[in-house]
Amino acid sequence: MVRLKEVVEAEEGEVYDIELEADLLEANRRLAEKNRELLQRYDVKAIDIMGAIGSGKTSLIEKMVQALTGKYRIAAFKGDLTTTIDAERIERHGAKTVTITTGKECHLDANLVGKALQRLDLKEIDLLLIENVGNLICPAEFPLGADQRAVVVSVTEGPYMVIKHPFIFIDADVVAINKMDLADAMGVDMKKLASDVKRTNPKAKVALTNCRSGEGVKEVIDALQL
Ligand code: MG
Ligand code: ZN
Repeated sequence: MVRLKEVVEAEEGEVYDIELEADLLEANRRLAEKNRELLQRYDVKAIDIMGAIGSGKTSLIEKMVQALTGKYRIAAFKGDLTTTIDAERIERHGAKTVTITTGKECHLDANLVGKALQRLDLKEIDLLLIENVGNLICPAEFPLGADQRAVVVSVTEGPYMVIKHPFIFIDADVVAINKMDLADAMGVDMKKLASDVKRTNPKAKVALTNCRSGEGVKEVIDALQL
């Protein structure tokens, strides 16, 4: 095979955490199923919202809470390494919010979400919006027990975010391509990003958004059938 550049590739078993990983992922899947059963028992819809740092996950959640309060009783989980800044932003709009601080962990897992579920009175909630830790890589491997998964990707992350991170998009039900107001300034073609998503996962529904102004958020809500 001809390579244009030198590439160092990890061989099978060479990445240090790989043996740990198989057990860990299986344990996570079992706990995710428990979360799913619990949420179904109380008729709570849950959405796992993933995306890179600064892509606009919190802004999307704020706008969704604004639009859907009245239709649903909403709670939010906010995964963060250490702070409660995002939770405070979401709570201002009236949703009960639980911060899940992960320390150094770069994704939420089903165990942490299960613990956070114990903090909610699920009888009082119809919709749970879960903001994952800002990361486009490992959240894909850790299902949480949510009904649907959404990914936010913004034009300020550049033109290759989708094709560079296929796994998170393969699993996504809905993808918001955010910061549409900055697309021209960034020289990023939103249609190209949208077609990259469709090529990676033809079943994903794509919405173009500006989550700061709220433009396109209704399309996300419709795509999630909320
Ligand atoms: Mg955030
Ligand atoms: Zn991680």
